[in-house]
Amino acid sequence: MDITRGKGGKKSFLLDLVFPMRCPFCDEFIEYDRLCCEECADEILWADENICTVCGKFLTKGCICPDVSYDRCIPAAYFTDRARYGIHSLKFRSGKSAADVLGRVIGDRLRVMELMNEIDLAVPVPMTAIQLRQRGYNQAELIARAIVEGTDIPIECDLLERHNVKTSQHLLGAEERYEAVKMQYSAAQDKDLSGMTVLLADDVLTTGATLNYCAYLLKEKLRAKRVICGVGATTL
Ligand SMILES: [Zn+2]
Ligand SMILES: [Zn+2]
Repeated sequence: MDITRGKGGKKSFLLDLVFPMRCPFCDEFIEYDRLCCEECADEILWADENICTVCGKFLTKGCICPDVSYDRCIPAAYFTDRARYGIHSLKFRSGKSAADVLGRVIGDRLRVMELMNEIDLAVPVPMTAIQLRQRGYNQAELIARAIVEGTDIPIECDLLERHNVKTSQHLLGAEERYEAVKMQYSAAQDKDLSGMTVLLADDVLTTGATLNYCAYLLKEKLRAKRVICGVGATTL
């Protein structure tokens, strides 16, 4: 995999003198033109084998078909060790280059599967207004931007919204979790996506409840034809 930076390289070189770059997956120092270290690029458990390309889960024990309302799901990595660290750094320590690496892997896979040129629009799974204010960015949006980089696919961040509803997801079973997700997300506007294939991006695929409900909203409320999910990592 190509782990070098794109066009931002020169600016990053100057920044590198003041703020040395670190690999978002292991925290080692890296050169300014890298997105992550070579060891992580080699060692991350990339989700290119034993993955169900419909639900995006580990085939041998985790396939959640036929209960999904999205059409395809392409995860970059399995949510283990380094990938887990990278996703956490994306959320808590502004290790934003993890999104560039994961998004690039998903984008490459979409091209190989000849799905990229069918995508009309990219939509990140939203955060609540409070979360967004606290973090300053939505990590799902960073991944969405990295996936479609180099294309002219537009990104719409205001089609779905997440409400500030408190639920303790850890304690819930699958059905209750889905009920909880239904209270958290809604379509924010009545835009007509008839005939469109939408890329729905998120950081982690766990039970699929969030992607499932957001895909339902895109299809049933906004009339999208097809939803293809791109996720940074899928849990085993
Ligand atoms: Zn590393
Ligand atoms: Zn499946």
